[in-house]
Amino acid sequence: MSERAAPFHCPYCGDEDLRPGEQGHGAWECAACNRAFQLKFLGLLARGVQRNDGGGDEI
Ligand SMILES: [Zn+2]
Repeated sequence: MSERAAPFHCPYCGDEDLRPGEQGHGAWECAACNRAFQLKFLGLLARGVQRNDGGGDEI
């Protein structure tokens, strides 16, 4: 296992025949449609840190 995120399907053709791209660092190549693409982590979603413990009923 590497620290890279691995896609399960090609985002373009949906095939599963993916292999790490030569560019490295999140780059993948699809052997079915011959496309190269890159996964990129954009950051955490703000809603991920909100609490929902039922204590906000003010009305
Ligand atoms: Zn593909």
